[in-house]
Amino acid sequence: MEDCIFCMLANGQIPTDMVYEDELCACFRDASPQAPVHMLLVPKKHIGSLNELECGDAELIAHMMLKIKEIAASEGLDNGYRCVINTGEDGGQTVPHLHIHILGKRSLLWPPG
Ligand code: AMP
Ligand code: ZN
Repeated sequence: MEDCIFCMLANGQIPTDMVYEDELCACFRDASPQAPVHMLLVPKKHIGSLNELECGDAELIAHMMLKIKEIAASEGLDNGYRCVINTGEDGGQTVPHLHIHILGKRSLLWPPG
């Protein structure tokens, strides 16, 4: 999709710190990391959010879910990690291209304390 920053990052139109990519998805580092490791896993195809997923995307989403543990292992997240998908305004979604935050290398207990 034109003018979508994550489409451009995922498809190599803008250089980024790419951690992993294949024909279906890309994983790059978040520009404003909230943890020592903070990556965003996105589909190369434009999907606006969880709300725009269709049945035909099932294989793509399964593929991405199964990639998470491989990407986490490649980043040394052996002690665990957190995955977050913000959706819509109340969910805090600021970039309208589906993305899975993968955060690790610090304690992410929630609620804190
Ligand atoms: P969300 O608030 O869930 O939509 O998350 C969007 C995330 O994208 C934020 O954590 C931003 O720091 C991150 N972000 C925005 N622009 C870029 C960019 N050009 N490269 C990498 N991460 C970005
Ligand atoms: Zn997009």
